[in-house]
Amino acid sequence: MSESDQPLTDGAPPTISLSDVLVDEELLSASRDAIASGWWSMGPRVAAFEQEFAAHCGATHAFVVANGTAAIHLALLAAGIGPGDEVVVPSLTFVAAANMICAVGATPVFCDIVGPDDLNLDLEDVAAALTPRTRAVLPVHYGGYPCEMGGLSALCEDAKLVLIEDAAHAPGAVIDGRRLGSIGAVGCFSFFSNKNLPVGEGGMVVTSDDDLAQNVRLARSHGMTTLTWDRHRGHASGYDVVLNGFNYRLDEQRAAIGSVQLRRLDANNALRGHLVDRYRTALASVDGLVVPFAGTARGVVPAYHLMEVLLPEGSDRDRVRADMLAAGVQTSVHYPPIHTFAAFTSYADRRALPRTDAVAPRLLTLPLYPHMSDDQVDRVVAVLADALAGAG
Ligand SMILES: *Cc1c(COP(=O)(O)O)cnc(C)c1O
Repeated sequence: MSESDQPLTDGAPPTISLSDVLVDEELLSASRDAIASGWWSMGPRVAAFEQEFAAHCGATHAFVVANGTAAIHLALLAAGIGPGDEVVVPSLTFVAAANMICAVGATPVFCDIVGPDDLNLDLEDVAAALTPRTRAVLPVHYGGYPCEMGGLSALCEDAKLVLIEDAAHAPGAVIDGRRLGSIGAVGCFSFFSNKNLPVGEGGMVVTSDDDLAQNVRLARSHGMTTLTWDRHRGHASGYDVVLNGFNYRLDEQRAAIGSVQLRRLDANNALRGHLVDRYRTALASVDGLVVPFAGTARGVVPAYHLMEVLLPEGSDRDRVRADMLAAGVQTSVHYPPIHTFAAFTSYADRRALPRTDAVAPRLLTLPLYPHMSDDQVDRVVAVLADALAGAG
């Protein structure tokens, strides 16, 4: 490093970013091979990634799509959700699910979380939110920690609702031997670059229901009955268009990266788990802090997507975050609740969400990625403790 490359803040430690991707020769050569093949979309690499992902999940079908939002869109459409329908969804999640519920003409009905120790959807509040118009429940496995799937599955079965898992945070997570995303009627994954299986852009729809699968397959590519790849291989010559679909396909280059990342997923999730353990031990000595999802139930392997803490009540979060950034640590907030966004404040009959409202101003996401070091974890905790002492 030459002198002119030195960080601007004299003597400051290097920035620890919220997430990071590791680039290595295997990833580079996988994408190079895909480019060199000269077949750039929906070919053998997409097919291989789908087969590998379905097998990993223990599901019959997996469809790679352009992104996780497209996955949710296709899942809702395949389930027949449309105008006049209500879909139960947490407010404390990324806005994609609620946006897609609106995109198909349905109404999102926001439900509360369990509480500060469990940021997932509360089963009792879901039951209380059901109306004759409810058609589906769309939980998110917050931070890679499973929702109460037994209870949600039973509730959906009783009320004849479609259970759609937003598993964007949870690739690889396990509950009683089953992978998250394969428990509901359909599961949706994201391969955005800060997720556990980073590809850049990309997503996957997973289902073991043949009818839902056929619908997703068609809607992903214009409602056309055959793909260019099938015609190229001489498997088909013409096509019909049997529904009004989209172009939500993915290219071969990204599918090739996806296959490499999938092989690394379980090991990378385990590395995340180790770092989370270290965080939890170190954070226990910081006064007033709550670390959600303490204690993993038997049979549960979380995906450890987010390292979330709740700051002491009354903390000035903006100031804590600014102080931490000045000390070289990037943080984030997952999430500002959806019901507080301008596009969603129009729901006049909105349900009360007291537990979501109570934790929202206290949420803080700390850096976490598989190749983070123990020393970096310790550094983040020290910087957080300093920031809290300064902001107290
Ligand atoms: C990232 C994310 C999505 C959307 O995925 P994209 O690939 O970015 O479209 C949906 N839901 C949740 C909970 C997410 O974190």
